[in-house]
Amino acid sequence: MKLAINGGAKVRIKPFPAYRVIGEEEKQAVLSVLDSGVLSRYLGCWHDDFYGGPEVQALEREWAEYFGIRHAIAVNSCTSGLQCAVGAIGVEPGDEVIVSPYTMTASATAPLVFNAIPVFADIEPDYFCLDSASVESKITSRTRAIIVVDIFGLPYDMEKINSIARKHRLFVIEDTAQAPGAMYGGKYAGTLGDIGVFSLNYHKHIHCGEGGIVVTDNDELAERIRLIRNHAEAVVEAKGAQNLVNMIGFNFRMPEMEAAISRRQLKKLSGLIKTRMENCAYLAGRLAEIPAITPARIRESCSHAYYVQPFKFKAGLAGVSRDTFIDAVRAELPVTELREKEGPLLSCGYVKPLYLQPMFQQKIAYGACGYPFNLTQSDTISYQKGICPVAELMHERELFLHEMMRPGMTREDLDDVVKAFVKVWENRDELTGC
Ligand SMILES: *Cc1c(COP(=O)(O)O)cnc(C)c1O
Repeated sequence: MKLAINGGAKVRIKPFPAYRVIGEEEKQAVLSVLDSGVLSRYLGCWHDDFYGGPEVQALEREWAEYFGIRHAIAVNSCTSGLQCAVGAIGVEPGDEVIVSPYTMTASATAPLVFNAIPVFADIEPDYFCLDSASVESKITSRTRAIIVVDIFGLPYDMEKINSIARKHRLFVIEDTAQAPGAMYGGKYAGTLGDIGVFSLNYHKHIHCGEGGIVVTDNDELAERIRLIRNHAEAVVEAKGAQNLVNMIGFNFRMPEMEAAISRRQLKKLSGLIKTRMENCAYLAGRLAEIPAITPARIRESCSHAYYVQPFKFKAGLAGVSRDTFIDAVRAELPVTELREKEGPLLSCGYVKPLYLQPMFQQKIAYGACGYPFNLTQSDTISYQKGICPVAELMHERELFLHEMMRPGMTREDLDDVVKAFVKVWENRDELTGC
């Protein structure tokens, strides 16, 4: 059977169904906000309305209750939530914050906003989250925090990383944008560190367009996060806040309609995760017949929320490289509705390790002269290629991932995905010729 990449017929042409999570409930919720006439109720001063309107506050109560945590603070993105978190813990210019190179860029740039310096540690070869031994090797007297990421939907190594943090008195900020609803033992991802940050952007499990939620059990940090969210500098005096460190406020406020949508979305989360887990288990089982492909492992006592489903590819067993193989599978598959321009939702390598971005390579963030990178002489700080070999290996050669387990895909749809992989596997000698 001729492969599509060599001009043969594709396994499937009809697009896969879109991931649609917005329904009648969200529509009604938005309409009632519009009818109320109050699209946001924040005031950027010390006043009853400093904490936002009824939908925002209801979302925060419901989110905190669902995840079993004292405080949930709605913001307009996970990116701004991460910035609130870094500011709230009181980083000083030139402090170091350990971050992952293998994540969405916002988790590594948040420290820079407060003139702190991202220090990259390597990732685990099995789980792709920050590796505890690598983290520990990057700690210096200037290290202030670790930003861990529950990458692809799997909780980070809470036990080891939290104990390193306790030993060195560091804060743990958990970026759980990709893992809402994942569990570590009896606790939800997002509640495993000192501060957790969720995303509600369009691409995530549940969404309101753009939005984020910061969670913490720490009353003082919660209040500092609320200040940074809403014009801190104009509020601290009347509020009587004593600690002025990093109290330059922003406007990171979530509007009422987004909060109303998010409340309805939260009710759908557990059902959506269950479907993702079932679809991923089905695909992993069916693809097991291909020896060169192994589904990523799940950390002990954790559940995976599958923002994407990662796999490892062994080129040695296939006789072709990952990129050649996956390109051929992509050629067999159709696009997904609403995301047609992205091509099939199957890709190689995830992101280029973030330290290879021009900002780190050239050390240009604020102004042209190396600030804030030039605040440190620390020799743990390097952005050279080679500093995180596991992340580089995953990016360049071993990891691929797909989003085709999203709810809305039927068994028949998933079977077409399997057919594409099997067809390419069985005809892989077509890829080795010249
Ligand atoms: C999506 C994502 C973010 C950013 O979320 P926004 O809400 O778009 O700011 C941050 N970190 C990770 C790991 C993400 O996947």
